[in-house]
Amino acid sequence: MTLAATSIPTSNATTTLEQQRRAFLHDGSPSIAQRKANLLKLRAAVLAHRRDVEEAINADFGNRSRHETDIMELLGVVQSIDYLLRHLRRFMKPERRHVAAFHRTGRAYVEYQPKGVIGVMAPWNYPVALTFIPLATALAAGNRVMIKPSELTPRTSKLIQRLLAASFSTDEVAVILGGPEVGASFSALPFDHLLFTGSTQVGRMVMRAASDHLVPLTLELGGKSPVVVAPGHAVRSTVESIVFGKLANAGQTCVAPDYALVHEDDLDAFISQYRAAVARGYPQGPTSPDYTSIVSDRHYTRLQALIEDARTSGAQIIEAGVMPERAAQRPRTLAPVLIVGAGDDTAVMREEIFGPLLPVRTYRSLDQAIGYINARPRPLALYYFGKVGADSEALLKCTTSGNVGINNTLMHVAVDDLPFGGVGPSGMGAYHGIEGFRAMSHAKGVFVQGRWNLPRLLRAPFGKLVELALAFSLRPRP
Ligand code: NAD
Repeated sequence: MTLAATSIPTSNATTTLEQQRRAFLHDGSPSIAQRKANLLKLRAAVLAHRRDVEEAINADFGNRSRHETDIMELLGVVQSIDYLLRHLRRFMKPERRHVAAFHRTGRAYVEYQPKGVIGVMAPWNYPVALTFIPLATALAAGNRVMIKPSELTPRTSKLIQRLLAASFSTDEVAVILGGPEVGASFSALPFDHLLFTGSTQVGRMVMRAASDHLVPLTLELGGKSPVVVAPGHAVRSTVESIVFGKLANAGQTCVAPDYALVHEDDLDAFISQYRAAVARGYPQGPTSPDYTSIVSDRHYTRLQALIEDARTSGAQIIEAGVMPERAAQRPRTLAPVLIVGAGDDTAVMREEIFGPLLPVRTYRSLDQAIGYINARPRPLALYYFGKVGADSEALLKCTTSGNVGINNTLMHVAVDDLPFGGVGPSGMGAYHGIEGFRAMSHAKGVFVQGRWNLPRLLRAPFGKLVELALAFSLRPRP
């Protein structure tokens, strides 16, 4: 299917924002029917271009499994649109609030009003899902939207631009293409809200830029998400789930398990289960059609440097598949490796990995594992494999992370009713669930005065009645 391209030059981003704001002020808050129509239009556009999306992402990555694109991107988008359609009426409904005795003759409620124009900045790793889910949320909340996709997936970003231009007018949804410079000027625009998904490092710059106009922010950032394997649980089902979370998109997933904490008695079992699970999932090794390539030469070199740095520091590098020099039929194919015994000062234990390398650290007691996690920046996700009980409770209570997966990896992202977001260096605010709708809405408190206005009695000139009312209201609790 061909689409007419309506490209918006970057210099016109300010004009586009002004147009969108004018249109928003002119048309006011859209009805539920209009919002649903927008969501359905978006859903239809995505599905009509399913094959184009698969091809564009595949070409941008060098290799990206068609099924992975369908499952991790398109299914996520369609599911979250369906979720929004199903719950929109409830989300939009004004909420009655409690009124204290003194104000009882009046009524109070909260109305969720669209903020206006929302900016969405997206990364490259799931270029469609991480653009369209924030877009759907913003549309459900009744907003206009400006999007800045990643420059690292140029074909997909162009497709997103064309696809949206064919479905929405630019005063509803507009796409601005470009690299870091465009990102920098985009993040400085006076949006009514800005949702940024990307690295913690760029998140800091975005927050600085947004502060000039006091633009409210949702920051969806990265970090090192640990997986804790309880003693005796380095078994097939556990390790298969870890391999799924680590190797989907070749580890280029914000919530991928970054490193594993395994009980010292289980290290050998964990390693052999890991190798076996990789062999089962990817029988042709890293050249399997289901194994994704690394997105760019820079990231490929960065990941190789992480391996070399760990090796020279004395860590053991364990191949869990064929190494790339022996299987390099595709660009930037990096075979999965386990890294055992990497010290705290190695780059692989300090930086977010974002690739198919899994450092494994051993622990003796759960307290030691908790201490290790708490000594590091708060992660985006935390995974635990073991019995649900005292240990999982202790881990949940004693650590702070964006979300938690128990006996699974990545799945919390697909549960649409859960908020999704990090904490501290892994993010600020959340979307998905009612939290996403509310992040992109203004919660406007309204108090409607009733016929009898008791607070009027507190106005000057103060007399006996005020004395009595104050004596009653300020009395000590029995
Ligand atoms: P990135 O921060 O490099 O880029 C994200 C966006 O910011 C892109 O659109 C880019 O063009 C733009 N940008 C780049 N430099 C900029 C600058 N100086 N000023 C303003 N904008 C700029 O991130 P990435 O490499 O595309 O994605 C990988 C990172 O994103 C990882 O850290 C990963 O954990 C994180 N991530 C987080 C989530 C989440 O939901 N929390 C999801 C996916 C990825």
